[in-house]
Amino acid sequence: MGTKARELVGEHAEKILELLNRALADEWLAYYQYWIGSKVIKGPMKGAVEAELVQHAGDELRHAEMLVRRILELGGTPILTPKKWFELSGCGYEAPENPFVKNILKQNIKGEQCAIEVYNRIIQYTKDIDPVTYNIALQIMTDEMEHEEDLQSLLEDLENLKFLGN
Ligand code: FE
Ligand code: FE
Ligand code: MG
Repeated sequence: MGTKARELVGEHAEKILELLNRALADEWLAYYQYWIGSKVIKGPMKGAVEAELVQHAGDELRHAEMLVRRILELGGTPILTPKKWFELSGCGYEAPENPFVKNILKQNIKGEQCAIEVYNRIIQYTKDIDPVTYNIALQIMTDEMEHEEDLQSLLEDLENLKFLGN
């Protein structure tokens, strides 16, 4: 723990740690959803979408890393068992049971929109009390917005494919 770091957030420490651990659960589920999605994906533009999914999976894992570092700094305990992922996650997990490109894109867009809301709430909560967590949440939210846009552009390209035929 960083004693001074913890002291600075004072009475808000427990609430911030709870928000960080919930976000950590979301990141791990998002990581796996992207990663397994990139393996099972089928359909047109498969190559381009697969590359994006792999890249996003890597970003989600990096987000998990950023959150854990902050949790430890504040003297908290990061989630130690995968069982907790579902218990704490607010965004949940959508299994790519239908592995068609369009379905996978839609599932992940929904996940990104949920993640944007999660980080927006952390930003709102920490803005006057914890600039370091605020900054981490801002960096992550910026990535999630980019992810959302990347996936929506791919979905748009995919939908435009139908005009190629005639
Ligand atoms: Fe993320
Ligand atoms: Fe994301
Ligand atoms: Mg991307």
